[in-house]
Amino acid sequence: MPNPLYVGRFAPSPSGPLHLGSLIAAIISYCDAKHHQGLWRLRIDDLDTPRVQPNAITQQLEQLKAFGLTWDGDIYYQSEHLDDYHKALKLLQANQACYACHCTRQMIRDRQQGDVTYDNYCRNKKQPFDLKHAWRLKLPTTSNSWHDAWCGAQQPLTPSEDPVIWRRDQIFGYHLACAWDELAMGITHVVRGQDLLAASWPQRWLRQQWQTSAPALIFKHHPLLFDLTGTKLSKSANSPAVWPNQGALFKIAEIFGVASQLNATMPDSEILAVIQANWTHITAHYLTHNNKNSITTVI
Ligand code: GLU
Repeated sequence: MPNPLYVGRFAPSPSGPLHLGSLIAAIISYCDAKHHQGLWRLRIDDLDTPRVQPNAITQQLEQLKAFGLTWDGDIYYQSEHLDDYHKALKLLQANQACYACHCTRQMIRDRQQGDVTYDNYCRNKKQPFDLKHAWRLKLPTTSNSWHDAWCGAQQPLTPSEDPVIWRRDQIFGYHLACAWDELAMGITHVVRGQDLLAASWPQRWLRQQWQTSAPALIFKHHPLLFDLTGTKLSKSANSPAVWPNQGALFKIAEIFGVASQLNATMPDSEILAVIQANWTHITAHYLTHNNKNSITTVI
């Protein structure tokens, strides 16, 4: 019987196949969910259409399956929930939790003249809501700290500008869609990389604005993988796609501390089986062997 108190998720953006960094995020969130007898849902963040690569969804699904990472329930495609996001946006508008903003990035930069503080130029102007313009979330200037189960106490960071929740190019912003989906999908645990630690604050704030009775989300942000030059593995750094061949499997086994159980003559399927047999221990091992705040150089 799955644990009804744990519903986790993995939420890749289909802007290319999974590289080792994104695969580690999938493995860790999968392991944490399975360790707690929870469900592991798959959400495809396909709203940012200019960045969606035509074959990426198929490739990502094949990669997850090849590594034995099977998701629970149907895949949740964000692009199928546009009406819901419109409703979510209207609720924010009704609560005066957001505002229309006519500024371009360049206009903000020009006014800032090198200062990073956001000047709230449109925040109190009460400009009519119009889908031609961007809408921003009114983040409070002061707030309580919050807790990340793996990173400890967090102070809400003041971002350099209020987050855009509806873009001028007619696309919903990541924070709005993500925070709404966690509610819609009944997610209880968000396990993802530390590059998204700062995203948790606007997402927590959004959840409060919808005045939901759902319990607060539990956040767990894991350490990231960096290459030998100290660059985070990412699509923009052209980190290669990873498929279960011997090299990739040895690397994963090494990262998760199970390489001593392997030998070079094992076929790929056996190496994968060793990794899978250790999945319930992997999250704990990974967190114990990585200083939570420091760079992990692995390739
Ligand atoms: N789709 C986002 C990304 O790939 C991750 C969203 C999330 O885990 O909240 O960076």
